[in-house]
Parts: sequence; structure tokens; C-alpha cells
Amino acid sequence: MYIAMVSAECAPIAKAGGLGDVVHGLSRELMAVGEDVEVFLPGYDSLRFDLIGARREVVGDLQVAYFDQSIPCRVESALVDDLNCYFIESESPHRFFQRGRIYGEADDADRFAFFCRAVLEFMLRSGKRPDIIHCHDWQTALVPVLLYERYTDLGLGGSRVCYSLHNVGYQGVVGASILLQVGLDPDRLMVPDRLQDPGNPRLVNLMKGGIVFSNFVNTVSPRYAWEIQHTDQGMGLQGVLRTHDRKFGGVLNGIDYRVWNPETDTHIPEPFGPDRLPGKAVNKRALRRRLRLAEAAKPIVAVVSRLDYQKGVHLLRFGVDYAMAQGCQVALLGAALDPEVAEQFRRMQEQTAANPDCRLVLAYDEELSHLFYAGADMILIPSIYEPCGLTQMISMKYGVVPVARRVGGLADTVFDANYSDRPFEERNGFLFDDLTEAALGEAMERAIGLWRHHPEYFRQLRINGMHADHSWSRPAREYLDIYAHIRVQ
Ligand code: ADP
Repeated sequence: MYIAMVSAECAPIAKAGGLGDVVHGLSRELMAVGEDVEVFLPGYDSLRFDLIGARREVVGDLQVAYFDQSIPCRVESALVDDLNCYFIESESPHRFFQRGRIYGEADDADRFAFFCRAVLEFMLRSGKRPDIIHCHDWQTALVPVLLYERYTDLGLGGSRVCYSLHNVGYQGVVGASILLQVGLDPDRLMVPDRLQDPGNPRLVNLMKGGIVFSNFVNTVSPRYAWEIQHTDQGMGLQGVLRTHDRKFGGVLNGIDYRVWNPETDTHIPEPFGPDRLPGKAVNKRALRRRLRLAEAAKPIVAVVSRLDYQKGVHLLRFGVDYAMAQGCQVALLGAALDPEVAEQFRRMQEQTAANPDCRLVLAYDEELSHLFYAGADMILIPSIYEPCGLTQMISMKYGVVPVARRVGGLADTVFDANYSDRPFEERNGFLFDDLTEAALGEAMERAIGLWRHHPEYFRQLRINGMHADHSWSRPAREYLDIYAHIRVQ
């Protein structure tokens, strides 16, 4: 099967978060089982060119419609980790992909709408006829709309679309002129059962368009699939998702064990695994040395997170204080985009700077995160919502016990030590429900109490987590089932 991944991100060359990891990990796994996969990305100037193989021009003069003009584009291809990638570069005064970053520009909707049209134009022109076009999040939602409304008749009628929702908190809600930009008819599409935003009838909701026009829609965990259909986590799209229930499901993400494996990780000083757990103690000492934490008989409670509303920042701050009050050490690695949140954590960093049991590293540091996972005993994940979450899966692989809120993918992967209905060998962490300090405190107290008073039982929880299989192998099979179900036979 020929599968075209169309995305705004692909790790490690264009990554802002979990989406990049998913596109990369899933594509590689599909290739490993013999599928023909190619990735289509904007040709950002911020690509990690040092990780991209030799590039070659594929098309030098692609004309892409933009309102009533057309914009010349170039398409280059290159291998990234054996994965064939196409980069669409536009040559216009808009400099769509020359902004030094992936997202966060005032005209993001225009930039990615243009990308959608350009990808289809490139496929048409270069004779690419994917069996499946797999699109991700609001940035690529116009691909299925354009495919159905324009490109089927032009020659792409054999392609079917699988559309994955990685975070329903970002839907791409914009003015209707975006439709004119890409050559779509607002009169046909600005109606309640197509692209009209459920909350504001004057606006276009791109993610809704992706849901309506795709052949199959999924999100990244079964629990989040239920939550966005039946609770306000759907952020206005609950009704649309229920209407399209028959083509909607949840597929849990995997993680890439070539990157996240304590037995082979080159970023940590001592390899370890479930059968050689003492190696973890060496990494704990190394983490303490790196962060200048005291050597003491205390558990290290870690946080590795974007410091964002979604991640429950108020509970993270409480958790840091509570862990110290309970005689633990704290190691936090986090970056905030919001200036107010950044300031709150900067102040906390200042107040704890002289404390030998607390270190806050306010940065995004992928390499250091490996040592955090290798050295920590517990990790706090008090998310308000969590489509899937990779942090808890990485933590488990490194023998770190998660203390997490029972939402989204966290509920599908973390099984409570005391209250789960799972067999003991599958229990791997501590869960709480209410979005309150008391609820987080209670779960942390159980975790810390177990570490202190029943170390053998705590050790078993670590090992249970390390044995869990969160590789891409099962999710890739589930995606293949979806592709087989929707493809033209
Ligand atoms: P999201 O994509 O919503 O941020 P996920 O749990 O799906 O959350 O993925 C988070 C990924 O980003 C994990 O790989 C985690 O290790 C990494 N990460 C988060 N914050 C940092 C940071 N400050 N430094 C390094 N890596 C981080």
C-alpha cells in the first residue's frame, strides 16, 4: 500500500511536540512491515538540515493557486532516517515557511491552507497516487476537503483519507476567506453539516472540515475518543464527532524504543533494564550530580513537561511544594510559552535555588530529559486533558512510576497500584480524578509511602511498567486495519 503522511511536523527534523514523534514513529513502523510510506512537509527554514540527507529537487516550477493568483513553489526530497520526505517551498513575498519556526505566526491558517493545496497539486503533477493520505491535526484538515471538492475529478479519485486528531484544543477556527484562498466555494461549505464552526456561524472550523470529509477519523487514545464525543473536552466538536461516530475511533500512540530504551540509551551513563535495575541507581546519582542535588536517601520526584495550562500548571506547582514537604527531592524540566506561567516558575526557581533538594530547569532540553527519566523515581502528570501523552510511556520504560490524573491516554496506560481492576503484573502507577490539590496530594502520599515503607512493592511497580509494551507495533497494525477498511479495493 502507498501511504502519504501529510503533516506540519516530523521528528527529528521538524518537531514542536508529540505530533512530530508520532508521524516519525508510525511511518517508520509501517515501512518496517513492508508498506510504502512517504512524508510531505512544509520546507521550513527551521528544519534540522544537519539531520537531513542529500536533498534533490523533484519539481522546480509548481504553480499553486492563491486567491486569484498563483504562487511558484519548489519541491525537494531527501531521506530522513531512511524515510523519504518531500519539502514544499514557496517562493513568494509571503515567505510562508521562512519564519524561523513551525507555528505561532499570525497567519498560521493561511500558511497551512496553502500547504494543503500545494501538496495535492504536487501529487497531481508528479503522478503520485496514494492509496491512503494520512493527515494530522487542523493544519492539514483541508486536504480531505480539497480532495473531495476538487482533486477527485482531476485524477486523485483513488485516494482515501485517514485523519488523526492529536489535540482538539486547537481546531483552526478562522474567517471564511480561507476557503477562497484555496479555491473552495464558501456557499457550499459554510453550512452546519460541513465547515461552519459550531460556536460561531460566521467562522470556518478547519478541524471540523477534516472530520466531515475524511473516510476515517481517529484520535490518539480510546479514552480521549470517548471524552471528546461526550464531554466538554470536545471543545465544541462533540456533536460533529457523534454524528460521524461510525467512522471514528481511538488508536493509542506508541513510542520509539530505538530512542527511548534505557538498555541502549547513549545519553545516560549506565544502561539498565528490568533485569538489571541496580543500573538505575547509578543514573540517579548522575542526575543528582548534574543538578547539584544532595546525595540522600530520598526519592526523586520529577516533572518533564511543557508548562502549559493543559498540563495542570497549578497542580505542578503544588506537587513540587508537596514533594519537598514530604521529604522528597524534586527535579523539574519544563518550558513555558505563556509569560505569566514562565514568571511563576522563574520565581519558584529563585525561591528554591539554595535548597539542596530541589532543582527547576526551565528549558526545553531533549538530551537532559533522558537523564531525568533514567534518574527519577516518580513523575507527576496532573494534566487537565491529555489526548495520549508520551511522558508516562517513556517514564515507565525507564522504571519511573507515574502519578497521573485519570484522563485521556493517561487513563488508558496508567493502572493504579491500589485501586485498579487489572491483575497485579499490569499495575504501574498512581491515579487521581479530581482536579484538586487534595486529590493529587493523596495520590502522591500513596506513592511516597510505598517507596518509603514497602520498597519491594514499589520496585515491582517499576518492573511492571518496564515490561509494558508501548512500541509502535500494535498501533501500526491498528492503522493498517483502518487503511485496509477505507482503501479502494
Ligand atoms: P505534549 O505533546 O502535549 O507536550 P506528550 O506527553 O505527548 O505531551 O509529549 C511530550 C514529549 O515532550 C515527551 O517526549 C517529553 O519528554 C518531551 N518534553 C516535554 N517537555 C520537555 C522539556 N522541557 N525538555 C525536553 N523534553 C520535553
